Amino acid sequence: MKQFTVRLHFHGDLNIFLRSKAGDIIERRLAEKTSIKDIVESCGVPHPEVDLILVNERPVDFNHTLAENAKVEVFSVQNRATAPTDKRLQTIGISRFVADGHLGGLARNLRLLGFDVAYSPDADDRQLLEVMTRENRALLTRDRPLLMHAIVQHGYYPRSQDPAEQTIEVVRRFDLSEVIAPFTRCMRCNAPLEEAAKAEIIDKLEPLTKIYYNQFRRCPDCEQIYWSGSHFAKLQRRIEEIRSRIRDKP
Ligand SMILES: [Zn+2]
Repeated sequence: MKQFTVRLHFHGDLNIFLRSKAGDIIERRLAEKTSIKDIVESCGVPHPEVDLILVNERPVDFNHTLAENAKVEVFSVQNRATAPTDKRLQTIGISRFVADGHLGGLARNLRLLGFDVAYSPDADDRQLLEVMTRENRALLTRDRPLLMHAIVQHGYYPRSQDPAEQTIEVVRRFDLSEVIAPFTRCMRCNAPLEEAAKAEIIDKLEPLTKIYYNQFRRCPDCEQIYWSGSHFAKLQRRIEEIRSRIRDKP
């Protein structure tokens, strides 16, 4: 088969993944039939980050193979409003996640907002992919080769290194701002919290907490107790900060 050239134009912030320093347009010489998914990933962009591919202005799926002179436009979820079509490659509205071992701060923040996040600091790649598949979760990781794994359907690469900023990114990427439910999930172990009567837990409380507080939630798994003390006020400020930053950005 004779060699031919294709041209890929990456939109939105997908250029952060590009290995080439030549801007957001990349040319590739192809000698054999290659799926568009493999070509996009060979440029450094993980497939779960790609929401729409237009080949000569028509939407295609990941298995599409390219012919000579193909003009390829690649869009992220961020571009959803600017290129309206039904043929999207990503799902939004996912609220169940598995986070890799480096994203503990993000995992705790998402749990604080009520989202179901599987997280274990020592999980290896195989275990992460297993939990993702078995429990139908979206993978959160800054490990690009892991995100490119063929069995990953839904996932996200947090751009920031800062847990609060990462949380905002995930809420926006999966369009979750309307379903935030603070203090419904244990930040330590992810179990849904239960109301607890003071009488049931009173022997576990510090003397001043016993006097000043009357409403409690308890984790049925790790038995952590949550109440509206000083730690609670700090968490509430964190939630408010995240919420206001979500509202502020376009
Ligand atoms: Zn717990």
